[in-house]
Amino acid sequence: MKLDLSGRVALVTGAGRGIGRAVALALAEAGAAVTVNYHSSATAAEATVTAIRAAGGTARLAQADVANPQMVDVMVRELLHAHGRLDILVNNAGITRDTLLLRMKDEDFDQVIATNLRGVFVATRAVLRQMSKQRAGRIINIASVIGQIGNVGQANYAAAKAGMLGFTKATAREMAGRNVTVNAVAPGFIETEMTANLGDETRQAILARIPLGRFAQPQEVAAMVCFLASDGAAYLTGQTINVDGGMVME
Ligand code: NAP
Repeated sequence: MKLDLSGRVALVTGAGRGIGRAVALALAEAGAAVTVNYHSSATAAEATVTAIRAAGGTARLAQADVANPQMVDVMVRELLHAHGRLDILVNNAGITRDTLLLRMKDEDFDQVIATNLRGVFVATRAVLRQMSKQRAGRIINIASVIGQIGNVGQANYAAAKAGMLGFTKATAREMAGRNVTVNAVAPGFIETEMTANLGDETRQAILARIPLGRFAQPQEVAAMVCFLASDGAAYLTGQTINVDGGMVME
């Protein structure tokens, strides 16, 4: 199914690498004008913009730490100055600081909550006024199966991702009257830098828990994000859609 997002304006956080890059490329391919946010990977983010433009799409760069409200507000203001509207926000930026709870330092916990949860709050709050005014908007939060089932060594990450699911539901209820939908996508294990350093034994143990028997490509998450951004998903809000090869079945 070819989705049509022409005329839409999108902001993707952490879009230089991994899932965010795939999401930015897919939204642009569907016709959206995409702002590619990054924090520290300037070269990678420039490459994402170049790839979108080379494919005939529209893209611009925006540097900001999603956990920093001042930077995010400036980023959204500049986006609105450039495009006059904002239809799609994809809260994708995320980090891990994995370690067993007994050894977890305060900063391991705080940094993960700041980027993965506070960042979602900060970016969502920054776009709500505009989306309310438009009486249209799509917010898509990239959560994780780890927020649903937990994982050894990821108490900080699981807490942030579980928090994101509650945040998604509360925001969906608040914004429904304004025709702004808010959904979460919960990926399982995706081939990106985040999962590149898993040891062989860990990888095999994870694979044994995935009914489809493989990790996913970032494009497979991007396909769901594009659907949630499209007209076909107009009646979906407050939901978590798992893209996990069947890892979590309810
Ligand atoms: P990745 O390859 O490590 O990329 C992480 C992205 O987040 C980078 O683009 C990075 O940008 C950005 N980022 C980190 N801190 C940021 C900040 N403070 N402000 C703005 N951007 C920031 O990870 P990924 O696998 O693509 O993960 C993307 C999202 O999917 C994350 O939320 C992750 O939790 C989630 N997820 C991933 C998997 C998986 O298996 N890979 C599974 C479930 C969920 P810079 O490099 O510029 O800092």
